[in-house]
Amino acid sequence: MEYKDYMVRATAADAQIRAFAITSRNLVDEARKIHDLTPICSAALGRLMSGALMMGDMLKNEKDALTITVDGDGPIGGLLATVNNRGEVKGYVKNNTVVLPNNDAGHLNVGGAVGNGTLTVTRDLGLKDPYVGTIQLLSGEIADDLTCYFVESEQIPSSVGLGVLVNKDFSIMEAGGFIVQLMPGASEEVISKLEGNIQGMKTVTEILKEGNTPEDMLNMVLAGFDIDITATMPVKYHCGCDRDRVERALTLLGKKELEDLASDSEDVEIKCHFCGKAYSFTPADLKEMMVKAK
Ligand code: ZN
Repeated sequence: MEYKDYMVRATAADAQIRAFAITSRNLVDEARKIHDLTPICSAALGRLMSGALMMGDMLKNEKDALTITVDGDGPIGGLLATVNNRGEVKGYVKNNTVVLPNNDAGHLNVGGAVGNGTLTVTRDLGLKDPYVGTIQLLSGEIADDLTCYFVESEQIPSSVGLGVLVNKDFSIMEAGGFIVQLMPGASEEVISKLEGNIQGMKTVTEILKEGNTPEDMLNMVLAGFDIDITATMPVKYHCGCDRDRVERALTLLGKKELEDLASDSEDVEIKCHFCGKAYSFTPADLKEMMVKAK
């Protein structure tokens, strides 16, 4: 059977709870191939992209975008994922070669690779200024940090579970996760039942290993509630860069930087951070851009 990446959105307990779940093996494997990621880097970026996709599903409009930046002092040097509300994600890690021993639980040590630092969510809703929320990293394991972001920055009690399993040949075996949130006015009864469910759950990695679907994951976290699946959406890795965009980004560097780049008589090759596609500019191209730059 062909395997497809997708996410589902649901409400439960008369909309006192909203929930999202995702399966993302293919797109994490694509990111792994593009960026030549070690298993620990695949796990870090895969978790971040899976969480970002579910958060992208919370955006209202076609042109809205959401970016999560993780800046830590660990060997991975930081990572970033950016999404729209159409189920498209792209991302990268600064250092793709990190190898660390497993943590005490026997899992890929994502927290050790990320280190201490901050997580920033930028929501560009097409207004003059984007909404920006920053928190201190809790563990660097990504799911805990996103939970902390929702509580601290958006005041939404939430639980986030994310996992990535890597095969011996570094390809991705499973990837996915869930986000469950309490809406304002949720009753004490609903809250304690949901907390009980979450405490009794296996880890996302274990759940994924058993081959469960996003719907299965929601049935576990929302056990005993009436669940209404309100949307199902395919998700994929998508860059969308083109020469114009790269040119605009280069122009933003300013006259001085462009002058330095153009001072060599050779062509300058710029590689897209997200998909690795190379764009080549001649010194004449760069000089033309200097005219437009400030
Ligand atoms: Zn690209």
